[in-house]
Amino acid sequence: MSKVLVIIGAPGAGKGTQSRLLSEKYGYPQISTGDILREMARADTPLGKRIKETMGRGELVSDEILAEVILTRTSQPDCNDGYILDGYPRTLNQAHLLEELALKQGKQVHLARIVVSEEALFKRLTGRRACPKCGEIYNIYFRPPKVEGVCDLDGARLTQRSDDTPEAVSRRFEEYRRSTAPLIDYYQQSGRLIELNGERPVSEVFDQLCAVLDGKTNDGETLSRAPGVEIQS
Ligand SMILES: [Zn+2]
Repeated sequence: MSKVLVIIGAPGAGKGTQSRLLSEKYGYPQISTGDILREMARADTPLGKRIKETMGRGELVSDEILAEVILTRTSQPDCNDGYILDGYPRTLNQAHLLEELALKQGKQVHLARIVVSEEALFKRLTGRRACPKCGEIYNIYFRPPKVEGVCDLDGARLTQRSDDTPEAVSRRFEEYRRSTAPLIDYYQQSGRLIELNGERPVSEVFDQLCAVLDGKTNDGETLSRAPGVEIQS
């Protein structure tokens, strides 16, 4: 059966990196709703115009439009064998809409959550610095440049993204907790959510995600069901 992989995780948990690695290995397209919305807003179609107007007003695109966008994108032939969703669903209502879509498409939804402590995420995000000249990424906690604030490769002054400041990161966490907590509860109760320790190296998290996609989810050593959830056969 073809597959839909849903990866859930707080900002900075590594969803994008893992999605890209999985996409390379399995050949499934990585579907990022943010990217698709921007792309569709540029297209001269009725849906594109609605998206453009909504985004132009600074409003969030409704769940219904988003569902239509996902349906349109995932009906492309490159999604026949499966696809990976990055950043969707984010809310309970979106999760329900996705179940309907997968059912229609005859695809099985696999759910994985990358769990990283908020403290570690805070350091990952607020410590991030980039070189505007060569694009090299540093982290003042985990991978500092040799000279503070300066790129090792070309000596350019390092910069911080505006949404990586401590205030912005706190806001992003708050938004994530508010919108996604009910979604996580729902998925945990379904007994299908596999939780992975995202503080392990990228390659180990990747191996575990591959096991989820391959359906090898009974390995008690590396994978565990959500605590406190009875697994129904
Ligand atoms: Zn540089």
